[in-house]
Amino acid sequence: MSTIDHLLAAVPTRLWIDGEATDPADGGSFSVVDPATGAVVAEVANASGKDAIRALDAACRAQRDWAATPPRQRSVILRRAWELVIERTEDLALLMTVEMGKTLTESVGEVAYGAEFLRWFSEEAVRIGGRYTEAPAGNGRILVTKEPVGPCLAITPWNFPLAMGTRKIGAALAAGCTMIVKPAEDTPLTMLLLAEIFAEAGLPAGVLSVLPTADAAAVTEPLIADPRLRKVTFTGSTRVGKLLIEQSARQVQRTSMELGGNAPFIVFDDADLEAAVAGAMAAKMRNGGEACTAANRFLVHNAVREEFTAALTARIGALRVGPGYEADTDLGPLINERQRASVAGLVADAVAGGARVRTGGHAVAGPGFFFEPTVLDEIPADARILREEIFGPVAAITGFDTEDEAVAAANSTEYGLAAYFYTRDLDRALRVADALESGMVGVNRGVISDPAAPFGGVKQSGLGSEGGTEGIEEYLVTKYIALTN
Ligand code: ADP
Repeated sequence: MSTIDHLLAAVPTRLWIDGEATDPADGGSFSVVDPATGAVVAEVANASGKDAIRALDAACRAQRDWAATPPRQRSVILRRAWELVIERTEDLALLMTVEMGKTLTESVGEVAYGAEFLRWFSEEAVRIGGRYTEAPAGNGRILVTKEPVGPCLAITPWNFPLAMGTRKIGAALAAGCTMIVKPAEDTPLTMLLLAEIFAEAGLPAGVLSVLPTADAAAVTEPLIADPRLRKVTFTGSTRVGKLLIEQSARQVQRTSMELGGNAPFIVFDDADLEAAVAGAMAAKMRNGGEACTAANRFLVHNAVREEFTAALTARIGALRVGPGYEADTDLGPLINERQRASVAGLVADAVAGGARVRTGGHAVAGPGFFFEPTVLDEIPADARILREEIFGPVAAITGFDTEDEAVAAANSTEYGLAAYFYTRDLDRALRVADALESGMVGVNRGVISDPAAPFGGVKQSGLGSEGGTEGIEEYLVTKYIALTN
């Protein structure tokens, strides 16, 4: 058997509820596909609403004890989980590559990044503070405490199968919350393996459940309709985020929403162009372009546009496309045919409007969901590719002449997640960083994610922050206790 077959033979495929692998109440399973071949690699148990309520019952039973567990003990379990994830790097990375398609190098990077949320929040678990002050009128004392929100539902996407889970689970568990995770249907295996790892780390039964399903709403709607659930945390499309906000409004559940992006990547005429091209490669091609922080629109000063475009085209055109688990691959497949068709549609629309294809531009024939790494220049102003999230290996370049024009173009989107720009002028760096309507700004760098920093968007890119010292606050509620003198 190959390494992949060995791994898949051992990987958990049943629901994880109340500390054990279990079969779905209604039976049934769904297929997980390797996007590099289109072949089925696993059959995974298909959760229904009944399983969801079973998981919520378990979460509610576990909630009080978990909240009362000393922070140091919660911290030690998270720390142990971090160690175990790192020990299992090879398995987790290969599994992610098989179910999601990214290269092994990227998957190994995600294991380190995803695990780091567990270590980070193990450190935050013991730093949950409050406040004690004298009432200004002198007639009492104000005591402010922080309590866990309660049982939470996390809905995660397929693009970072591990890290989008750990970023939520780490914060929730550190704060003393229980959590039910509904992983994306394309990539449920990584999260099921993580649940086993948490059990090995000593996490009590019921604190974490994982419910893979091919019918997301069948699992999430009964949970969100249940007043015992206190929070919904979601990473995914703005469309689904809006639906979930509407649903959670009925029970006034708290929400954290990490939604879509349309990141501008601005190159000013005073930029270090070599650094800008390297940053552009990272901001565009990391995760095959399938990241909500991915550079979506390159805005390049017309004085350097041709030089930048030619250099980026050379780099992107040289990427080797293939299965992520093959050693010489630079760029894996897209997640599925729907995603590939969406990318192809955006490219076709831009080209029909007059965009120039500098390299790539087409789906790759044969098995798997590959798309050529692509650079488009001279994009017409009304092209959909400038307004919609590409989520694929396509760089769309337009020119500008003034700083004001660049900032206005960058901000002319309903999204506001990440923005990047390159300049060597410090005054401009501060001015533009302030002017960008974006939750995160990369100055002279193409990768900004860091577990120690708050990740989040403004406008229709979301609500709340994940990671950093802010991340745990999303899972805490404030209580004010009024004391007499
Ligand atoms: P994408 O289009 O990139 O797959 P989605 O927002 O559709 O992004 O998916 C992100 C997550 O949201 C996945 O776990 C998916 O199963 C889940 N999801 C999709 N539709 C719904 C829905 N109607 N209710 C709850 N979760 C959903």
